[in-house]
Amino acid sequence: RCKAVSRFHISREWLHRLSTFAEPGPITNFDFLCPHGLISPRRAKDLNSYYAEVPSAAWDYLHQEFGGGPVCSSLQYCVTCQNEFLRLQTKRNAELAAFKQLQKMERSPSVRWHHPPNLITRSWFSRWERFVLNHDEEPPPAIDNSSLLTRPAKEGGVVRLKQSGNYMTFTRDMWLFFVNVYGGGPEVFLVHDHQPTADEVAKWDEERQRDLLNATEDDLQLNVTQLTLDNGDSDHEDFGDTHS
Ligand SMILES: [Zn+2]
Ligand SMILES: [Zn+2]
Repeated sequence: RCKAVSRFHISREWLHRLSTFAEPGPITNFDFLCPHGLISPRRAKDLNSYYAEVPSAAWDYLHQEFGGGPVCSSLQYCVTCQNEFLRLQTKRNAELAAFKQLQKMERSPSVRWHHPPNLITRSWFSRWERFVLNHDEEPPPAIDNSSLLTRPAKEGGVVRLKQSGNYMTFTRDMWLFFVNVYGGGPEVFLVHDHQPTADEVAKWDEERQRDLLNATEDDLQLNVTQLTLDNGDSDHEDFGDTHS
């Protein structure tokens, strides 16, 4: 679209493929451009390392020979993509901070857990983890725990935990946090008998509530201290220590 300019931008990654492989495939300028053909916010920080400039004769030749694109002779920021990028960064930071608070609560000796541990598939949690730790990743979809459950006909259709399920354990508060943000289900507990009924879960909820009401000022004070202490990022790169 900018015919007057004689230099064209081309993906360095694609140029590398061109020099390495017999079939580099079509030009992949979306390596550094957003879907609108403007600068991708994910690449803005070290943009120069993602593209090279070639004279128009070279571009014309490569473009004709290999196809792909898009044509780019000037680089401009994309307001739409920049806003979306910032929105996701805010979401990542908020969710990571919330989860770290919940981890501290889990370790706190003054919190009693009435529910058995909650479970979420390892694959879903890994996607969430990748999302909050990488600015390249999209948010995960709704939670789907159905693969963790089985309903053997010979036991009258009672829902149980599968023996082979690939899951991670979480506190009830963590489960509520994730399901509030992402939706999905079903709620699954680490019990090897039948999965708890809604009534059983409600009973645990009541016990938990009673605990919170009976907690002394000191207990609450302690909790608040533990929740606000240590906001450093000492151990957040790996959640595996407490949840594998
Ligand atoms: Zn252009
Ligand atoms: Zn864009």
